[in-house]
Amino acid sequence: MINIVLFGKPGAGKGTQAEFLKEKYSLKHISTGDLFRFHKSNNTELGQLAQSYADKGMLVPDDVTIKMLQDEVERDPDTKGFLFDGFPRTKAQAEALDVFLWSKGWKVDATVALEADDEVLIKRLLERGKTSGRPDDQDEDKIRVRYQEYNEKTAPLMDYYAKQGKFHSVDGIGDIAQITHRLSSVIDTLN
Ligand code: AMP
Repeated sequence: MINIVLFGKPGAGKGTQAEFLKEKYSLKHISTGDLFRFHKSNNTELGQLAQSYADKGMLVPDDVTIKMLQDEVERDPDTKGFLFDGFPRTKAQAEALDVFLWSKGWKVDATVALEADDEVLIKRLLERGKTSGRPDDQDEDKIRVRYQEYNEKTAPLMDYYAKQGKFHSVDGIGDIAQITHRLSSVIDTLN
């Protein structure tokens, strides 16, 4: 069992890299952003709630996010491991994840951050917004709120995992295969 948390600001390439890593290491990819968008497209109560936050660039409250994540993990108990993408994003989520995995005899093995400069990422997101249809990618003010949320609530998690000796970061700028290679070099040291 290997559980990996992919870290990085919006636009850093977590989703793109997750597609390669999940195949390479036979991991179950869980993206909380994708799950919220799935609920939104199905117009569920959770989807409507999430949308009211996501459309402003804000994080969805911890309790519903943690519950959704746990339900998703429970759906696939026989996997070789999980690749968490966009979760945890707050200290409460990180602590809840530790307790939850521990209750199953599992743990977070490593967190890997994709590092990139804010201004490069903002341009990338605005470009993505032209085709993704995501309202939160189309407006620079909303993108800046997402970065503010990241800096205030998510960035402190690097220290949380560093203290446990589980934090790694890789350069997130370059071509896709090169970045997959950098991430794999970290994951390959875990066994
Ligand atoms: P993402 O696709 O990861 O950029 O997420 C899109 C939006 O979904 C975020 O801006 C938040 O509103 C919400 N979201 C995704 N993951 C989380 C999380 N772990 N905690 C709170 N909100 C989240």
